[in-house]
Amino acid sequence: MENSSCNCKTLHPQSMCPAFGGLRVLMRIDGVQVCMAADQGCLYGLTFVSHFYAARKSIISPELMNVQIAGGSMIDDLRRTIEEIAKDPAVRFIPVVSTCVAETAGIAEELLPKKVGNAEVLLVRLPAFQIRTHPEAKDVAVSTLMKRFGAFDAHKKPKSLVVLGEIFPVDAMTIGAVLQKIGVESVITLPGTALEDYIDAGQTEACAVLHPFYERTVSLFEEKGVKIIKGNPIGANGTAQWIRRVGEALGLDPAEVEAVAAEEAGKAKEIMGRFGSMHGKVIVAGYEGNELPVVRLLLEAGLDVPYASTSIAETSLGEEDHRVLSMLGTEIRYRKYLEEDMEAVVRYEPDLVIGTTSLDSFAKERGIPAIYYTNNISARPLFFAAGAATVLGMISGLLARKDVFRKMKEYFED
Ligand code: SF4
Repeated sequence: MENSSCNCKTLHPQSMCPAFGGLRVLMRIDGVQVCMAADQGCLYGLTFVSHFYAARKSIISPELMNVQIAGGSMIDDLRRTIEEIAKDPAVRFIPVVSTCVAETAGIAEELLPKKVGNAEVLLVRLPAFQIRTHPEAKDVAVSTLMKRFGAFDAHKKPKSLVVLGEIFPVDAMTIGAVLQKIGVESVITLPGTALEDYIDAGQTEACAVLHPFYERTVSLFEEKGVKIIKGNPIGANGTAQWIRRVGEALGLDPAEVEAVAAEEAGKAKEIMGRFGSMHGKVIVAGYEGNELPVVRLLLEAGLDVPYASTSIAETSLGEEDHRVLSMLGTEIRYRKYLEEDMEAVVRYEPDLVIGTTSLDSFAKERGIPAIYYTNNISARPLFFAAGAATVLGMISGLLARKDVFRKMKEYFED
């Protein structure tokens, strides 16, 4: 759901409803049943997107019309709904999600139960006037879960790591295999599908944060003495650096770590060499929050990326990427507007746009090949040599066929 149609469009225009990001995290947990405190407009749209893009599950909500919201029965209605949900013995976790409606956003947590029957109950606030984008809402959901469930007081397990960031399943497998080779003994991937993942994540020694928008979760981990590893294994340089950082944070055997870092970087370099030095001007303009590391890969492969934009704010976790991209001449926009992206397409006349649906239509109307960032980048591996091979393979194919778009435009214009 694009929230240009909802009642908050002046606050955070032209991106997915932020609450969706949180729901995506919450609804994937086994034994979960979300109870939403929202008005019917939000509920309608969020049920739709969550069903299709999160977990094929429905959201349950008390009927919160104006009468209930303003009339003071909202908390009682919510409690009744939670009790109803908890009657199902398969439900182990009931996140109560509040959204933009001011009264529901301000629900007092202490008025809700912490546990009903078998089910843990947890209030997760996702109002768009505070959380501007769906990636940032994922951070809110993960940090709220960690605050409540993380076993931070238990002993830290040696050589254990949390990998933080929603990634393609093949990437998770490759990361696991590489970490095992350097001697990491246990790995938890968050956002996870089991409540136990959030409990166990509190006992890990370090957290490798792959995406720059997990600021709240990272500061909670830091506060609890978990070491933070920044960056991600994208491209040859990034891969070697990331492996070394994990080794250092967990005190692993430096010789073993160095050998694996050199081997993985070599494989990525070899893949990039296969594409030769790529030529072409590409604009990257997504709203997932992980666009800048992708740009780093394209620049490393020899492509020209004059402009990149993202929906999230500039963060300290993304500092390194920001520095590298700026040094290599990429103009970066945070909290971007569609109009800024469109203006960049006109100004830079790229050979390829990797953007949002609206930007892609704009580019295609001008005869410029364009693909949807979310479906094409977030839905394939990105890390290590395998990631470089898939992403660069796709881009080089599109660049080679760029004239087809121009010819198609000319054909229809004729
Ligand atoms: S939660 Fe906020 S942004 Fe999302 S649909 Fe409702 S009013 Fe719009």
